[in-house]
Amino acid sequence: MKVLILGVNGFIGSHLVDRIMQDTDWEVYGLDLGTHKVSDHLTNPRFHFVEGDVTISKEWIEYHIKKCDVVLPLVAIATPKVYVTDPLRVFELDFEENLRVVRQCVKYKKRVVFPSTSEVYGMCPDAEFDEYESPLVTGPIPMNRWIYSTSKQLLDRVIWAYGFQQGLKFTLFRPFNWMGPKLDSLNTAKEGSSRLVTQFSWNLFNGEPLQLVDRGTARRCFIDVADAMDGLMSILRNEGGKADGQIFNIGNPANDFSVREIAEQMIAIWKDHPFRIERGIPEGRMVEVGSGDFYGKGYQDVARRTPSIKRMQSTFGFDPKVSMKDSLKKAIDFFVEEHKALEKVVETEN
Ligand code: UDP
Repeated sequence: MKVLILGVNGFIGSHLVDRIMQDTDWEVYGLDLGTHKVSDHLTNPRFHFVEGDVTISKEWIEYHIKKCDVVLPLVAIATPKVYVTDPLRVFELDFEENLRVVRQCVKYKKRVVFPSTSEVYGMCPDAEFDEYESPLVTGPIPMNRWIYSTSKQLLDRVIWAYGFQQGLKFTLFRPFNWMGPKLDSLNTAKEGSSRLVTQFSWNLFNGEPLQLVDRGTARRCFIDVADAMDGLMSILRNEGGKADGQIFNIGNPANDFSVREIAEQMIAIWKDHPFRIERGIPEGRMVEVGSGDFYGKGYQDVARRTPSIKRMQSTFGFDPKVSMKDSLKKAIDFFVEEHKALEKVVETEN
């Protein structure tokens, strides 16, 4: 199978390439702005990488859609801080650029596996969000946060309609707070705009307090990226065509915690971490901060977000196993290694 991955150097793309190279004989054609997350595979003859920007490398993309069997358009901004500060960029990249790719998949009759998002459920009141039953609930227009949710929702609906009216072969998958190594860059953490676990790791490292937005009562279910990849790989394998025309939540309802509980767990891991002790970095602590101060005016939070994974379980026997604690430990260890590697670079440069 020939797989085209746009945004191959991102969090999902890079983990997917690891798995494809390890577990299959598939060929991957990948485009991205950089290579730092996929550098292990650059010499692998089954990995064909091109450096480029989806908004510019349009001919390359069209040619490779024609050439490949399945297309994953993974390029998107998926960081709440940016939804609030630069909603137009989110719309242009997440919606407009991907619509073009989807239309080419229709034109060349290629299968598209599209990353929808748990954000489409928004403030849904259901205890567990169901792909085929739950209402999708977003906030008023001045709340910029919802630009991401609604951009993705409209693309979900367009893809669904192309399937319904013109026979497009597709699968929509919805990540529920995937976490693990390579999630966000250190730079975004530095400026305070990365996602929860990266942001808290950065704060711990720098002896800064973990900031609990609106008292840290919001709840999320986190899934380790290794478990999430099991799910995504079964969708890509698509045995018996079971993923065709379907929507799947990929998350771990067993890891349901409040932001405050996550902060407490991370502080506990950090307290005994050899790196912290060796460097004499202070133990972690928390402060409360209002969402208006932290994110700016157009932010509105999702109080609870629990996936129903019945469909993944019954279709593919999906069974996420990694506990929150183990996943957090891995995330912090990765951060330590990344930090040490960076220090080495600085030493060599000096
Ligand atoms: N959050 C927080 N402190 C931070 C970063 C995030 O309290 O430093 C909260 C945020 O308000 C939300 C939750 O953590 O309630 C998860 O945020 P994340 O950025 O991971 O993305 P989301 O799950 O909302 O898409």
